[in-house]
Amino acid sequence: MAVGHETIYSERPQRLIFEQTSLFLDLDGTLAPLTQRPEGVGPDAARNGRLRRLAERLDGRLAVVSGRGIDDLDRILEGSVEALAGIHGLQRRHGGKVALAAAHDNLDAVVRALHAFSERMPGTQVELKPLSAALHYRGAPQAEAEARLFGDALSARTGLKQQHGSMVIEFLTPGSDKGEAIHAFMLEPPFAGTIPVFAGDDLTDEDGFRAVTRLGGFGILVGPPRPTCAAFRLDGEAAVHAWLDQALSLNVFVLEAPVEPSYRRI
Ligand SMILES: [Mg+2]
Repeated sequence: MAVGHETIYSERPQRLIFEQTSLFLDLDGTLAPLTQRPEGVGPDAARNGRLRRLAERLDGRLAVVSGRGIDDLDRILEGSVEALAGIHGLQRRHGGKVALAAAHDNLDAVVRALHAFSERMPGTQVELKPLSAALHYRGAPQAEAEARLFGDALSARTGLKQQHGSMVIEFLTPGSDKGEAIHAFMLEPPFAGTIPVFAGDDLTDEDGFRAVTRLGGFGILVGPPRPTCAAFRLDGEAAVHAWLDQALSLNVFVLEAPVEPSYRRI
């Protein structure tokens, strides 16, 4: 793909029929509103019904790619989506098979350090996942600078990778990201040979945008403009659901809001 704004193919409006499309969706901030606490997101009948219909119409080429663990995704999605990538790709389920990365040897030490930090910083919250741990500071935004310094030191000391998201720092085993998870799905039927589209809101979703672009597809940034590898943009979670409803009624995914060239990194 060429650099600059004169020859970028993906800036043109695109219409992708269901038969040629694989759809990858982030959850928090994309399909569900961002909440103060991760457990604040629960099942939603309208959302899950929509996802179930989409998965059927796409013959299974729908996957949710999230930072949450697969068990948590099942709690929220109530089985509406079978293909899941959890913890930024460290967990992946498809066709009833679950692939799991091994937990890092230093994960326990990281968890202890996060709890100690959180006790000193009221309003912060530690979230434990099977293969990672996260420090949320949405409830204590004044702690951000200190949390970042603490994260740098902890990552250097333990070897776990830091991933910065929206008011959260996650510590996870190096070696996987949302892009690798999407790439792995795209090697397998029924995804293989189709055009991947990935919608996400967070910085960690940029890995996914890069992956789908490399595979001939399109990233959709959800939320306000920012430097991004996505080619298109939707305003927020409500716009995502309206876009999915439009696709279900037209039998085609319409991509028509290109990201401004000045916001593009590729
Ligand atoms: Mg998100």
